[in-house]
Amino acid sequence: MKYDLIIIGAGPAGYVAAARAGQVGMEVMIIDKQYIGGMCLNWGCIPTKAMLESAKMMQRAKEAASFGIDGIIPGNVTLNWDAALKRADGVVKKLVRGIEFLWKKNGVEYLQAEAVIIDEHHVEANEQVFETEHILICTGSKPMKLEGVPEEKLLEMENLFQWHDLPQNIVVWGHGTVAVEYTQFLYLIGKNITLISPTVDILPGLDSYISDFLSKTFKRDKIPVYISSKLEITKESTIKIADKDIPFDKILNCSYRKAILPAMKIKLELDERGFIKSNDMMQTSIPSIYVAGDVSGKSFLAHTGSAQGMQAVNHMKGIHEEFDLKKSPLNIYSDPEIAQIGQTEQQLKEQGIEYKVGIYFLLANGKALSEGNSEGFVRILSEPKYGEVLGVQIVAPNATDMISEASILMTVEGTVYDIAQTIHAHPTVSEVFMDAGMASVDV
Ligand SMILES: Cc1cc2nc3c(=O)[nH]c(=O)nc-3n(C[C@H](O)[C@H](O)[C@H](O)COP(=O)(O)OP(=O)(O)OC[C@H]3O[C@@H](n4cnc5c(N)ncnc54)[C@H](O)[C@@H]3O)c2cc1C
Repeated sequence: MKYDLIIIGAGPAGYVAAARAGQVGMEVMIIDKQYIGGMCLNWGCIPTKAMLESAKMMQRAKEAASFGIDGIIPGNVTLNWDAALKRADGVVKKLVRGIEFLWKKNGVEYLQAEAVIIDEHHVEANEQVFETEHILICTGSKPMKLEGVPEEKLLEMENLFQWHDLPQNIVVWGHGTVAVEYTQFLYLIGKNITLISPTVDILPGLDSYISDFLSKTFKRDKIPVYISSKLEITKESTIKIADKDIPFDKILNCSYRKAILPAMKIKLELDERGFIKSNDMMQTSIPSIYVAGDVSGKSFLAHTGSAQGMQAVNHMKGIHEEFDLKKSPLNIYSDPEIAQIGQTEQQLKEQGIEYKVGIYFLLANGKALSEGNSEGFVRILSEPKYGEVLGVQIVAPNATDMISEASILMTVEGTVYDIAQTIHAHPTVSEVFMDAGMASVDV
């Protein structure tokens, strides 16, 4: 039998593409060597959010008295690691079952095996060779190995939650959303945490207004943050940075990412970092082979990978759909949450694009105050003549959901007038979005 498409890797890029391919009538098989859901479901996006939720709830429980609830003694509130992990595992299992259902509904075949690409139309797995019209590579990425750190001092993210007795002094090495989220999680559960970023930008690509907010959050929580391009371990448990000695028990590796490439008997063009090169339609240097997700090196976010996977399948079916990475949101599940979409102020300045800023704070919002979460703002960057929205930044308890309103606006090239005129239900935190729209119209 000849397949229309074989997908290698069942993470968010692969599993969404498989369902889409089945939906549009393709004969599709998806192969994964380890698990359904990839890194995202099994130890990335989902388990971290579930564990973070437990940590945030623990903090919230400590504030119960301020909501008029008696009987909770803050000093007695602790995280039951095993119970929290069990809950996280339950969430993962439900989502995996959801994917299996979706595949079944759309006629997707699944094979658990390591795949090898034989040529542009053949894939080998489980000692069988399968023929296919197209191949989609979605094999993901992993953090680079940390050199110079003794094995017993190293914590890899993949195994972090298996540590039931995490030591007290933990250094998070890395930058980006993952490093920030782990820093917050470990802080919330009471660890002495130090973040060491290899670059000045702890969150590369973030608008500096939000970076400044994040820095203030770290200062407020007394989380030391250092910038250092290398880790210099001087004594057994000390990292030296400038004139500081930072004690640590373990280092969590949130380092730069590198591509996970499947074994291949043909040659695909790679970029200078080792990721698979592709055109705007996710087609590699061999036209029948496509790539999506982390292994493309274009973005390291699950939703972008899923969108790329869909785009690749659409292209195989003759649909040329433009995909603008700038319209993909960047979410940080910190406390409060942070989200951003579109251009930053720095990017607009660099391109010489005129813009105006409309901002509104949660401090005056009824729902935010009622919920006791009034830290944050919505900030809109817009084009001054017609008011088209160029970028949105949100800090709010549910910023990662609220950003979807901005995603739609940017997709339809909406304006600040559209936002200001949209009736937002009261009381909702989303009203701040409307207020920021009005603030943009005023200035
Ligand atoms: C701690 C953490 C938290 C994160 N949180 C978020 C978040 O909140 N939001 C977000 O958008 N992103 C988040 N990410 C990033 C997100 O997990 C990745 O961007 C996403 O998983 C990439 O999807 P993918 O399909 O490209 O690859 P993966 O999810 O890595 O899946 C790749 C799959 O390919 C399989 N595979 C590899 N080689 C082969 C082979 N030769 N044969 C068969 N199978 C193979 C692997 O077994 C794996 O299942 C997080 C990442 C981490 C580490």
